[in-house]
Amino acid sequence: MIVMKFGGTSVQDAQAITRVAAIVKGRLAQKPVVVVSAMAKVTDQLLNMARAAGAGDRKTALKLCRSLQERHYNTAGELLGTALFTQFHSDLGADFEELDELLRGIVAIGELTPRTTDHVAAFGERLSSRIVAAAFSALGMESSHVDSRDCVVTDNNYMRAAPLFEETNERLRERVKPLLEEGRVVVMGGFIGATKAGVTTTIGRGGSDYSGAIIGAGLDAERIEIWTDVDGMMTTDPNVCTDARRIKVISFDEAAELAYFGAKVLHPATVLPAVQKNIPVYVLNSRNPSCEGTRITARAPHCKNYFKAIAAKKRITIVDVAAPRMLLAHGFLKAIFEAFDRHQIPVDVVSTSEVSVSLTVDSNESIPALAADLAKLADVKYEGRKAIVCLVGESIRDTPGIAARVFSELLDVNIRMISQGASEINLTFVIEEDKVPEVIRRLHKAFFSELDPEVFA
Ligand code: ASP
Ligand code: MG
Repeated sequence: MIVMKFGGTSVQDAQAITRVAAIVKGRLAQKPVVVVSAMAKVTDQLLNMARAAGAGDRKTALKLCRSLQERHYNTAGELLGTALFTQFHSDLGADFEELDELLRGIVAIGELTPRTTDHVAAFGERLSSRIVAAAFSALGMESSHVDSRDCVVTDNNYMRAAPLFEETNERLRERVKPLLEEGRVVVMGGFIGATKAGVTTTIGRGGSDYSGAIIGAGLDAERIEIWTDVDGMMTTDPNVCTDARRIKVISFDEAAELAYFGAKVLHPATVLPAVQKNIPVYVLNSRNPSCEGTRITARAPHCKNYFKAIAAKKRITIVDVAAPRMLLAHGFLKAIFEAFDRHQIPVDVVSTSEVSVSLTVDSNESIPALAADLAKLADVKYEGRKAIVCLVGESIRDTPGIAARVFSELLDVNIRMISQGASEINLTFVIEEDKVPEVIRRLHKAFFSELDPEVFA
């Protein structure tokens, strides 16, 4: 069997769901379990109505609920045609009645707890998965809807619940396997689960990829396909560098390094359950289904290129902390990191000298307050409009002279910080933000002009 996970934009309207059905039809022989996100933007809207209800604004909450109902009815109507929709109408109606009642309950109590939030948020995937299953049937595929809350068992850490793998795997084998053996396509919602006691939970925003991996790992899938709206992972941002190429295969560790750079594609941590079982994960494009996408594997095959990708993150601020008298006395770094911790500001790159420490943080953080706190320890300066550039590749580990090759391409660029070593598969440095396009183009030209055909498309 295989798992095919489709994100919110892939199921955003009748047209998109019809495209999904065609893709799934081409894979019937492989016994797919289809995992879907809520229709695009629906989770945000549900959370908005929950908040409105929690704040006592009944009118807004119910209005948002009605517009959501309309969108789902219209989509279902378009997909199913009048006769089938009439049957299906009452199923959807019951869900919306439940949501309506829930919102009124939240208004009445005047409090929105994480547990109740999950009840509301779960409607997105409950609805989308029902509609997709009904659409598959209407289009002639034998399909069954399975409520993920009957299979994905989690702890009760609402809004970020963690799966209990043993229980989940057992339920998946019990409820999903027999349907697949009968030749039915199983459709399930991502993102949602339930505690052992049956209370609805969600596993964190963007959690549907994780659901796909949990379900695939639990059923020993041959492969997991994450369908999105891009062709896969690229050597660099194609908007910056038109020569960017698709990466055909990347290791889990490499993909994890790139995820930090907002690779919109997929956060590899979410597919860890699959990678740990050596199940290959593919990132594919539902708007261009014949493209082979990117395969994420536990281990990268040998690559003739030094790097797999170049990524950059803008809007970075460098914070310099200099302690001339203390000469980085024992406990000094601890005190610095405690200040970051107090302000809950994550640090990205760190470099130290005998008398100072430089750290980078996202410019959106509240840096003046942090600086005021740090100023009690040492002299503090900060400077925005910087960017982190990162080259990623397993070959970095065993290629001597790699840093020299990179920096010799950038002799005229002011490099503010350098970091290599932590993971052995990335080389990271900090430059002025406005230099990013030029630096990326130059490095891409230098290191990706000739491509290993096994690894790049
Ligand atoms: N619908 C959920 C969200 O928007 C989960 C997902 O799409 O992955 O966060
Ligand atoms: Mg997503």
